[in-house]
Amino acid sequence: MSQRMQGGVPMIVMDEEAQRMKDRDAQEHNISAARAVAESVRSTLGPKGMDKMLVDSMGDVTITNDGVTILQEMDIDNPTAEMIIEVAETQEDEAGDGTTTAVAIAGELLGNAQELLDQDIHPSAIIKGFHMASEEARQQVDEVAIEVDPGDEEILRKVAETSMTGKGADVNKEFLADLIVEGVRRVTVEDNVDLEFLKIETQTGRSAEQSELLQGAVIDKDPNHEEMPTDVEDARVLLIDEPIEVEEANVDTEVAVSDPQQIRQFVDKEEREIKEKVRKIKGSGANVVFCQKGIDDLAQHYFAREGILAVRRFKKSDLEFLTEVLGARIVSDLDGLTEDDLGRGSVRRDEDEQLFYVEGADEDAHGVTLLLRGSTDHVVDELERGVSDALDVVASTIADGRVLPGGGAIEVELASRLRNYADGISGREQMAVQQFADALELVPRVLAENAGLDSIDTLVDLRAAHEDGDARAGLNVFSGDVVDTFDAGVVEPAHSKRQALASATEAANLVLKIDDIIAAGDLGDEDEEPGGPGGMGGMGGMGGMGGMGGAM
Ligand code: ADP
Ligand code: MG
Repeated sequence: MSQRMQGGVPMIVMDEEAQRMKDRDAQEHNISAARAVAESVRSTLGPKGMDKMLVDSMGDVTITNDGVTILQEMDIDNPTAEMIIEVAETQEDEAGDGTTTAVAIAGELLGNAQELLDQDIHPSAIIKGFHMASEEARQQVDEVAIEVDPGDEEILRKVAETSMTGKGADVNKEFLADLIVEGVRRVTVEDNVDLEFLKIETQTGRSAEQSELLQGAVIDKDPNHEEMPTDVEDARVLLIDEPIEVEEANVDTEVAVSDPQQIRQFVDKEEREIKEKVRKIKGSGANVVFCQKGIDDLAQHYFAREGILAVRRFKKSDLEFLTEVLGARIVSDLDGLTEDDLGRGSVRRDEDEQLFYVEGADEDAHGVTLLLRGSTDHVVDELERGVSDALDVVASTIADGRVLPGGGAIEVELASRLRNYADGISGREQMAVQQFADALELVPRVLAENAGLDSIDTLVDLRAAHEDGDARAGLNVFSGDVVDTFDAGVVEPAHSKRQALASATEAANLVLKIDDIIAAGDLGDEDEEPGGPGGMGGMGGMGGMGGMGGAM
């Protein structure tokens, strides 16, 4: 396919094989593809949501409940479906939590839009109505939001616990919430949270309640030589991003040797070079060396002899984190090395002899590490996803200072307020605003459904409570009762909900705007069932869904 201009009008020239779908067909095709993706994560929503096991093409297994992880691992190759995945990714970047909610709402918006299209309502009226509703809903979030004191650790712990409920982190959520809140507090200066200074490290082999929060960094590495010290109380640490080896040029040089004497000389020269490097390091006063690249055997030997602890092959990001922890500079060139480049602190080995704990001595040294432990890799990975969501929501609550009642309470309240708002709007947009309101109620419906409760009864009860003016009435998924979820400690940051509303609407509208699909290849689904709820049928064309690996 190519584009040409003819008399100022763009003209699309199609390949012979190209396929084209227009108007209603195009919309239906896209809506069903997008909905299918949204459907695929619905069953994971909420504390009682199920996990998914994803198997990638290499046979690696991920077991998770995390919306964005599921969608990314699914490796979907369909342009419309990808728009929905972007919703999850935007939500993850901007809020850190609420990815399943955002995607589920986007899917439901499109489902409801389909109903309007079936009634011959023009997409542009739907788009306009959705846009109005989204703006209004976000304004109403501001009205309903409960202001909290960012220093109120009780509420922060509740926000963290809500986000971990039903995840791998659930079992130890109270214990972990304490670590999370304390960790965030340590990287907060005057309500400015900098999560860059809080690093998560994971370690398998012990249970989650043996996780710990440590001042400084944790390094999962071994010393380079068994005769090196492993505990250095008064550490002066060199961080270096160049190898401590013979200069590369020399290694690759072919040397034509005619007699053993020449080999000897050559080796001597290399030895001198290494010795010289170690001498410079020693001369600066360093007694610990953390190197991003390699350290060759001879250098290791000299370091050990000098009583210097040397560790090699650090990740660049770890070295950068250590500059904060130790107040050090990363050195590339040993020639200019001085004592000022070194960081000060202490290095100690853990009981299991697997990790180094590095703590800074400087007053203004910062950086803390949350060391998460779990029995196996799968457990630790899912723990990490849960904890990192919780860190984000705590940080976001401190920054924004506003929370909302969870368990579907906010969604039902917004839906009710949107219906009032719709009463004041005329025409087709009114119907779109009403459909938008209905779409928000997907959240309590699915929370109930996933908990094995009757979703219609639940919604009826919730609506009644909100009619009576109880704006915080939500679902207790464990008892099935309607409760004041704020009082029950089920709280979410307002920022995250605003973001979910914005990105879900944007994606739905993006999909609705398309009235023409021109595909270079086969569009596929001529004689297939359209992808209704739960079905992937409509996704056959335009690349289809590649690489699902039979995982779902
Ligand atoms: P997301 O990816 O959208 O964060 P989750 O699976 O984490 O999806 O579920 C979040 C939803 O679960 C929110 O609507 C939240 O209010 C709700 N939720 C969390 N804890 C509870 C609880 N104890 N009772 C009821 N709902 C809860
Ligand atoms: Mg969540």
